[in-house]
Amino acid sequence: MTPEFNLIKQYFTRPTRHTKLGVGDDAALISLSTGMEFAISADMLVAGTHFFADCDAYKLGWKSLAVNISDMAAMGANAKWATLAIALPDINASWLAEFSRGFFACADSFNVDLIGGDTTRGPLTISVQIMGEVPIGKAIKRSGAKVGDEIWVSGKLGDAALALAHIQSKLALPEAASLICAKALHAPQPRLALGLALRDIANSAIDISDGLLADLGHILEQSNVGAIVELSNIPHSTFVDYPIDLHDESLRKLVLAGGDDYELCFTAPVQMHAEIVKICEKIKLQLSCIGHITSNTGLILHGLENEILNIKETGFDHFS
Ligand code: ADP
Ligand code: MG
Repeated sequence: MTPEFNLIKQYFTRPTRHTKLGVGDDAALISLSTGMEFAISADMLVAGTHFFADCDAYKLGWKSLAVNISDMAAMGANAKWATLAIALPDINASWLAEFSRGFFACADSFNVDLIGGDTTRGPLTISVQIMGEVPIGKAIKRSGAKVGDEIWVSGKLGDAALALAHIQSKLALPEAASLICAKALHAPQPRLALGLALRDIANSAIDISDGLLADLGHILEQSNVGAIVELSNIPHSTFVDYPIDLHDESLRKLVLAGGDDYELCFTAPVQMHAEIVKICEKIKLQLSCIGHITSNTGLILHGLENEILNIKETGFDHFS
């Protein structure tokens, strides 16, 4: 057996759950359930650009699949199959063992089969393609936001950006806070259960990978609407020994534009408010209503004293 094939067999071949033919042949075979259509997306992680080359391989394995599952969640699709194309500078057995352990831990948590891929020598690059199922016509698109919709976000924003700023010595988090934030950065939890629950409820959705304001901006542009967002309603962590005061412009920037949150931002009619509160209790995930959709295009951010914050001055010139 060639070293490449050995490596694939050892690290990337596991029993599958809903796949006719998985890793090992020239192509995998899968069948769609009746009444469903495919949702397909890919995300590439390049060493030095998306992660530090010396980062923990287990966490990298987890994250490379998790960020893809997050895209399925944002569409209201159920993640089912993934392929993994990986370029490796050399064959490092302990690195591969840890990477694949993290990858499959995420795959097992979200019931995803790894069904194929490609392995080659090169600068460390990880490219995952994810395939999911959604009932025909039910996918939640970025373009569906309606005037009057409430805008919601899941979880807490900014923890991952705080962790990155801490690593880059731009700020110094106390130990407990730094552990919580590091978890958000290295082991994001895709909000798949939320995405599925929102199928007949949300008019539009996106996962927050580039920061709330940028990603909400995509919904606004594609739906041709605007929004008013209340800073006081933005969910973020507060640590006893490191309070996050959004009067502070640099903290505000991390929370609103930091990126790597992998929470969902979605819009839904006001009539769905009570239903969304129920979902929140059912899946035990914080959901915060942060504003509403307007017919005037552009985004207005209300500050903590209800003043209008100049988004451009805070660095979000995407909206200028
Ligand atoms: P081919 O030469 O026909 O492209 P390969 O030798 O590259 O096939 O791959 C053999 C099998 O292993 C294929 O089924 C492919 O999908 C799978 N595979 C290759 N690399 C990976 C990987 N990193 N993870 C999962 N499956 C992989
Ligand atoms: Mg090949």
